[in-house]
Amino acid sequence: MNENSPWACHVCGLKSTNGTGRACALCYQIACEAHLAHRPLRNAEFGHLELKLVCSDCAQGLPDNGESGTAP
Ligand SMILES: [Zn+2]
Ligand SMILES: [Zn+2]
Repeated sequence: MNENSPWACHVCGLKSTNGTGRACALCYQIACEAHLAHRPLRNAEFGHLELKLVCSDCAQGLPDNGESGTAP
């Protein structure tokens, strides 16, 4: 086993061996820094909002939380 296994962003296809890559909290797929952002997600059990790493694919399906004017 190598210490750095390659990973690829599922959004843009970027491949890297730098670090381990980070997974989206919703679809559990790996994405690069550019395609992950912290978004407030409602905790299903307790109903409060938590900041989670969400990929840009999943973020499109989230309700707006005050942010408006997304880029085309
Ligand atoms: Zn990417
Ligand atoms: Zn996702």
